[in-house]
Amino acid sequence: MKTGTLSIHTENIFPIIKKFLYSNQEVFLRELVSNAQDASQKLQTLASLGELKGEIGDLTIEITLDKEQKKLTIKDKGIGMSADEVEKYINQIAFSGAEEFLQKYKDAQIIGHFGLGFYSAFMVAEKVEIFTKSYREEEPAVHWSCEGETSFTLENCDKADRGTEIVLHIQKDCEEFLESFRISEILNKYCKFLPIPIRFEGKIINNEPPLWIKKPSELQNEDYEKFYRKLYPMSEMPMFWIHLNVDYPFNLTGVLYFPKIKPNMDLQRNKIQLYSNQVFITDNVEDIVPDFLTLLHGVIDSPDIPLNVSRSYLQTDANVKKITQHITKKVADKLTSIFKDNRKDFESKWESIGVFVKYGMIRDNSFKEKVKDICLLQTVDNEFYTLEEFKEKTKVLQTNKDNQLVWLYSNDLTTQELYIRKAKAQQYQVLRMDGIIDMHFISFMEHELDKTLFVRVDSDTIEKIIDKGIEATSLLNEQEQNLLKEIFKKAAKNDLVAFQFQNLASNEMPVTVIRPEYQRRMQDMTHYQFPGMGNIPDLFTVIINSNHTAVKKILLLPNETEQISLAKQMLDLAYLAQGMLKGEDLYHFIENQISKL
Ligand code: ADP
Repeated sequence: MKTGTLSIHTENIFPIIKKFLYSNQEVFLRELVSNAQDASQKLQTLASLGELKGEIGDLTIEITLDKEQKKLTIKDKGIGMSADEVEKYINQIAFSGAEEFLQKYKDAQIIGHFGLGFYSAFMVAEKVEIFTKSYREEEPAVHWSCEGETSFTLENCDKADRGTEIVLHIQKDCEEFLESFRISEILNKYCKFLPIPIRFEGKIINNEPPLWIKKPSELQNEDYEKFYRKLYPMSEMPMFWIHLNVDYPFNLTGVLYFPKIKPNMDLQRNKIQLYSNQVFITDNVEDIVPDFLTLLHGVIDSPDIPLNVSRSYLQTDANVKKITQHITKKVADKLTSIFKDNRKDFESKWESIGVFVKYGMIRDNSFKEKVKDICLLQTVDNEFYTLEEFKEKTKVLQTNKDNQLVWLYSNDLTTQELYIRKAKAQQYQVLRMDGIIDMHFISFMEHELDKTLFVRVDSDTIEKIIDKGIEATSLLNEQEQNLLKEIFKKAAKNDLVAFQFQNLASNEMPVTVIRPEYQRRMQDMTHYQFPGMGNIPDLFTVIINSNHTAVKKILLLPNETEQISLAKQMLDLAYLAQGMLKGEDLYHFIENQISKL
């Protein structure tokens, strides 16, 4: 028997292991099962090279609980270790870099605390034993034992079969790890897709082959759908997917699914699972894949993503950069191929694809370059145009006197119906911009596109929105306008309303309420930036049509009461058209109409 001191520089590493990793203790099992997997796969490799005497046999890894003895055992039939190897790999190697180890693990942001290795067992165990026998038959079996101090014992033992058995004597405050449901849960989370079978309580944990490591050519649509179902039993079927499969210059496999995105649905992030050689690492892939790609679902597996560095370091890592570029390109390629192969299909999915494309264009310049030609604009009549097509479509009619292209949009088809009709009556196109991301997309596009304005369809009279500089004559002189303004002010009983006269056609509405684009955007922004500020008064302007005969008629009425009453009726109609006539005003308006029947 041999006793000794573990070679570490920092004397008392165990309390530190316990403390730093407290928040994520469960990973100890992943680490130990990963070691068992490695040892088993190494054995398979040796066998395939003809270096193994005897049979491989069944390699199933057994996990057993002994609640009474407070023991958890992980037993593999892998290559095992000789006494020298235990000395080298467990006693020395694992702790040769103790200081470096401490530096690393002080950073709580490390992805999934991966690579902590064998010693993570001491997060939950007061004593750990190893019984191991090397595949080299001449090597005697050995027993190593350590009680979470810097001393250990190492002696020969009579283990007959090849492989390693790790016995954890679970400490008092970690007894949850003696509960079988807890162990199942951890195994299902981290070990579901590992290659060597793992048995716990008679059941094989990893009987689901990891689809992503298969060749795309061997897979049918159903296989992808079935796999999606396994990953997200509660989600609706995805629209399409991409299979990632690269082995040079970095290694990356995975399947990314495009979910359906419903308007006004909360965007579901953190659906992508990151694996490293089929071991689950995390479902928080922020900093690993670009922000907009976190809208996708699925699995990515890459041993080239460094896991024992801090998250902030990851973004600067060369491999991570290459991997994200690759994924971005694959996603753009997939979208482009659907667009080219079946535009109708692409259009029918635009509601979902669009969120993704617009968000991606805003967030990622290289993605924008790749997809800007397939980014669609949808009109209120459900026609779809690419940006170029829409430019062509609108340039003749919708260019204003300053040579700017004016693109009209509606963000609420029902309340803006009247304004949409007016625009369409003049052969103008109106875009539908009522998606979750459309307001941001509009600001973004105005920066991107030269001499192009987006203007909401109710932000002014259509003549002013697309101002071609044609001056119309007015039925009212300045003095009449001033008189009328006073009357309307009294009728409105609201100091915040601004009045403007416009020389519109005589068959246009006598009075129109508009929401000036600039003012409204400022208001939206303030609301967004200071949501606690309460209700900001609704800003709008009332346009009086100086060519409408009813407006002129107000002045011909004999007294002020009648004048105000007629002005009020016109105002109410305008409010009604904007969906702004409410409460008492709405009640009186209706009463008044009924009395005229
Ligand atoms: P890592 O697995 O990252 O190398 P560990 O501390 O987990 O670090 O393990 C150190 C070494 O101990 C391993 O590289 C391996 O050589 C050996 N080892 C650990 N567990 C086993 C096992 N179950 N069977 C054989 N060798 C093992």
